[in-house]
Amino acid sequence: MKQRILVASGNAKKLAELRSLCQDLPVEILGPEALPQGLPEVEEDGDTFLANAGKKAFAFAEAAQAQLGEDVWALADDSGLVVDALDGAPGVYSARFAGVEGPERDAANIAHLLHALGDAPEEQRGAAFVCLIAVAHGEELLFAVEGRVEGSILEAPDGDGGFGYDPVFFHPGSGRSFARLSPAEKAAVSHRGEAVAKLRHVLETVLPQTQR
Ligand code: IMP
Repeated sequence: MKQRILVASGNAKKLAELRSLCQDLPVEILGPEALPQGLPEVEEDGDTFLANAGKKAFAFAEAAQAQLGEDVWALADDSGLVVDALDGAPGVYSARFAGVEGPERDAANIAHLLHALGDAPEEQRGAAFVCLIAVAHGEELLFAVEGRVEGSILEAPDGDGGFGYDPVFFHPGSGRSFARLSPAEKAAVSHRGEAVAKLRHVLETVLPQTQR
C-alpha cells in the first residue's frame, strides 16, 4: 500500500516536481484539491523556517486525518533568504520584506535588500537560501529536512529567470546569478533541490519499515 502524503501547496509546479521525484517510491502525493472541506488558513508567524514549516505541517496533518483518514501524512515547506550582514534578515520575512503585495512584490523586495546593503563590499555581501520541509502525522512531527545554498548578493539584478531574489543571488559554483540558471541547473544546486533530495532519502529509508 502506498503512503498518502498531503502536500498543501497551491503551487502546481511544486506538486508536479514532488510527484515526479517520488514516482518510484511507495507514496501517493495528494494536492489540496483532495480535501473535500478545504485547507485550514495558517498564519506563518514563526521565528524560524522550521517553526513555520512545522506549524503548517501540523495544521494540514490534522485536516488530512479528519477529512481523508487516520493514515495520511502532511508535508509543508518554508524557505527564504538569509543575509549575513543583516543578521539573517530577511529570513522568515523574505516574502514580505518590503511590505508590498502583488506583481511588484519581487522587485520591491530586491530594491529594499539592495538599499539595506548599500555599498557594502563583496566580502560583506554573503547570503544563503534556506528551505525547510517538515512532515507530520497527526500531532507528531515525523521528520524535517533542510537544504541550504551559499552565495552573495550582487549590487544590481542580473538575469530574468527564476523568481523572488534570484536576480541578485550570485552562486559561486555556477559563476552566475540564480536568475541566469535554467530550472534544471537551479534545482541541481538550490536549497530546494537539496531539501527535496534529503526528503527522498528519508522516505526511502523510512517507508520500507512501514509500507513495503
Ligand atoms: P516560500 O517558502 O515559497 O513562501 O518563499 C518565501 C520567499 O523566500 C519567497 O517569496 C521569495 O522571496 C524567497 N525565496 C525562497 N526561495 C527562493 C528562490 O529559490 N529564489 C528566490 N527567492 C526565493
